[in-house]
Amino acid sequence: MKASQMFAPTLREVPAEAEIVSHQLLMRSGMLRKTASGVYTYMPLAWRTMKKIMDIIREEMDAAGCQELMLPIVHPAELWQQSGRWQVYGDELWRLKDRHGRDFCLGPTHEEVITDLVSGDVKSYKQLPLRLYQIQNKYRDERRPRFGLMRGREFIMKDMYSFDRDEEGLDESYRLMHQAYTNIFTRCGLDFRPVAADSGAIGGDTSQEFMVLAESGEAGIIYCSSCTYAASTEIAAAYLDKTPSQEIPEDLEEVYTPDCKTMEALTAFLGVPLEKTLKTLCYMADEKFVMVLLRGDRMVNEIKVKNRIGCLELNMAGDEEIRQHLGSPAGYLGPVGVKNIRIIVDQEVPYLANLVGGANKDQYHLRNVNPGRDFPIDDVADVRLVEAGELCPQCQQELAFARGIEAGQIFKLGTKYSESMGAKYLDDNGKEQLMVMGCYGIGVGRTMAAAIEQNHDQDGIVWPLAIAPYHVVVVPVSDKDPDQMAAAEKLYQELTRARVEAVLDDRKERPGVKFKDADLIGYPFRVTIGPKALAEGKGEVKLRSVGKVEMVALDEIVPLIL
Ligand code: ATP
Ligand code: MG
Ligand code: MG
Ligand code: MG
Repeated sequence: MKASQMFAPTLREVPAEAEIVSHQLLMRSGMLRKTASGVYTYMPLAWRTMKKIMDIIREEMDAAGCQELMLPIVHPAELWQQSGRWQVYGDELWRLKDRHGRDFCLGPTHEEVITDLVSGDVKSYKQLPLRLYQIQNKYRDERRPRFGLMRGREFIMKDMYSFDRDEEGLDESYRLMHQAYTNIFTRCGLDFRPVAADSGAIGGDTSQEFMVLAESGEAGIIYCSSCTYAASTEIAAAYLDKTPSQEIPEDLEEVYTPDCKTMEALTAFLGVPLEKTLKTLCYMADEKFVMVLLRGDRMVNEIKVKNRIGCLELNMAGDEEIRQHLGSPAGYLGPVGVKNIRIIVDQEVPYLANLVGGANKDQYHLRNVNPGRDFPIDDVADVRLVEAGELCPQCQQELAFARGIEAGQIFKLGTKYSESMGAKYLDDNGKEQLMVMGCYGIGVGRTMAAAIEQNHDQDGIVWPLAIAPYHVVVVPVSDKDPDQMAAAEKLYQELTRARVEAVLDDRKERPGVKFKDADLIGYPFRVTIGPKALAEGKGEVKLRSVGKVEMVALDEIVPLIL
């Protein structure tokens, strides 16, 4: 590639909205451009890196016995209604209608579509296990798209779904994916840690997140340096049974309520008429603490909090009335995601009728709780629930705290979707059984951004070799010197023939500009062809990661880089 023809418009200024390093560097290096909020164009350099990450993912998925397919992005609402998630997924689900007024959504994840597919075509135990994946755009209308590719509304995800005959089969699929993810993130050159995770909106009961360690990470991790224990702060808190210290502000009214277990009792207690308590959200800071928000509008089908209404059922009642009230299907409420829940209320505040917080037990509640003041109203997991320095539940050594970026997650789903979508097979006794499922996601763009968070310096990106857009840039110091240009061109041709991915910076620019861009874009190697070295038949090889410069004979450069 000749730099003079490359579409990589670098910027000198950092765009104001880019808060974190990866976003800034992707913009400055001409790799990324914003098309709409949370919607981006991957420029040619970024797309090369994205393809390399996708190639690594494909290799590891295929090696683990997975098959690639391509599911539709546009999903009919019926499938989501069947699983119950049409009602509970909330505003993150990007809904649309066709010209006939039929409801559809853009896939944020594909459990419904793939389970429906497999249930139609797989009938016998002989066809299982089945492991299917795709790499595709996903759509989530995130409340707060930010940090560039980290939290987009359109983003590329690898999602794999496993279908097994039984729990043992699922264990094996899960184990294979754990290993594949470990290989993928290692090959991408990342410092990461798998941590026990909350299974969130997707459901199921065993899950791990692959966290890339970075200060800018939105997630908190509690881990032990002496053994393998590592968990998201939420899970760590639940496991260690820690309650965050909650100082009660003075203007909070402490109320002891005789019974909040029915909707009527609750509304009576709150002093708002039943018809005004139509939307009930809850907030749980830990297993012991639940908050209930009551709203005056009637959009019960647009509950924002996904499975988080589960904690309402569990903590307030277990009450069919509340379930109906929330308009959620019976199958959905359950002991899923009941641990540490944070809720988004900011744009809702005008509708807020009342807010009550309290311990997850009878007869203890607080009135006038103020979200944002008394509790974070963000959905970002930035609350430390377990202190570093506490003792590891496995080995009693001190735990440490780190921030991380969730680059991937693996889940054991069990039969949650095979039950609701009717994915059954006949076992070897001719008996009908539910398929046992798992699902496994990796954010491709987020992985690229995470790699930059971990690999950069003040001058720009320092790509790990495996995912660098190109390996080498060859820089003639003066484009006016025909000898330099000829030597640079020759080296560039040799590198290309040796299958080294090279760029020739043939632009009519000052050397300073070329060097700055080379550092910014982060080519692992830079070879400078200047007058002095060239007189000795040499080039100056700079290794981006260590900044070390070495004079190397021109005909030894290709073998050196290989
Ligand atoms: P988060 O907790 O950050 O919202 P998630 O748990 O909702 O992510 P999953 O449903 O587990 O995400 O999706 C699998 C992977 O897809 C994530 O681990 C992440 O790498 C990626 N991902 C999820 N949401 C986004 C997004 N809005 N933008 C970019 N990548 C995303
Ligand atoms: Mg999310
Ligand atoms: Mg998550
Ligand atoms: Mg996740």
